[in-house]
Amino acid sequence: MNLVYYPDPILSREVSDVNLEEPGFDPVELKEQMVKLMLEKNGLGLSAPQVGLDYKLFVMGEKEDAAIMVINPEIVDVSDETELDVEGCLSFPDMFVKLSRPKDVKAVWYNEKLERQTGLIAGYGARCFLHEFDHLHGIVYKDKVSRLKWERANKKKSKVVKQRASVMNYLKLMSAAEAKQLQTEVAAADNIQE
Ligand SMILES: [Zn+2]
Repeated sequence: MNLVYYPDPILSREVSDVNLEEPGFDPVELKEQMVKLMLEKNGLGLSAPQVGLDYKLFVMGEKEDAAIMVINPEIVDVSDETELDVEGCLSFPDMFVKLSRPKDVKAVWYNEKLERQTGLIAGYGARCFLHEFDHLHGIVYKDKVSRLKWERANKKKSKVVKQRASVMNYLKLMSAAEAKQLQTEVAAADNIQE
């Protein structure tokens, strides 16, 4: 399994729904492989098209035992309140841009056991979820910022490479604080009436 980099065409098109009756792959095994690659590359999320797979699914999390697999997700609701924060992407090495996203997201999806999940996701987890959700629809974070902002981030790239340790630490600290919240809220939202 290898990462696919922008501008590979698979990153710019909507990928296919997973056939839940007959996925054609072992979701538990795929989750393991994708989580392993994501963590090796210091990512917090990784979608199937980013490894060249035509499936609507992604993994996210900052630790192996806390990572989730999200299959055929649908957004139910997002908060009006937004937050501006730093985002990176494994398909764009060393490009970090600040962009605005909703603070919370309510979504439904299937996990690796093909069980239906309902989750209310907050904080950096919501950002991560929405970033990966976009990948499944052929949208990347570059599409969400102005060209000027993107060019500025591109100029900073060499500086970022030098400071990589601190940027990654920043993202890790952020996710450590949110991961616990993410897990709890996903669990608590199981009882939400639809
Ligand atoms: Zn990405």
